Amino acid sequence: MKQKKAMSVYCDTARVLLEGCEESFRVVLALHDLQLLSAVDGSRTGLGDLMAKADVKKRHARSTWLRHVDQHGCATAARV
Ligand SMILES: [Zn+2]
Repeated sequence: MKQKKAMSVYCDTARVLLEGCEESFRVVLALHDLQLLSAVDGSRTGLGDLMAKADVKKRHARSTWLRHVDQHGCATAARV
């Protein structure tokens, strides 16, 4: 099967916002991994505040990206 060529449909701003969104998701996942490991070995991590802040950043990054593509229309411009 032929693999589709990767092509971005977003403008430069949307791509930067999406990268920020992806990074914020990675941070949240990494913190969840650390919390899971601490639960397994019984240690206390004190990650609650960090996880809450990371979750706020994730939601903000996601909503900023969604608002941009909705207002700018760059997500639908490439659809034909
Ligand atoms: Zn855009």
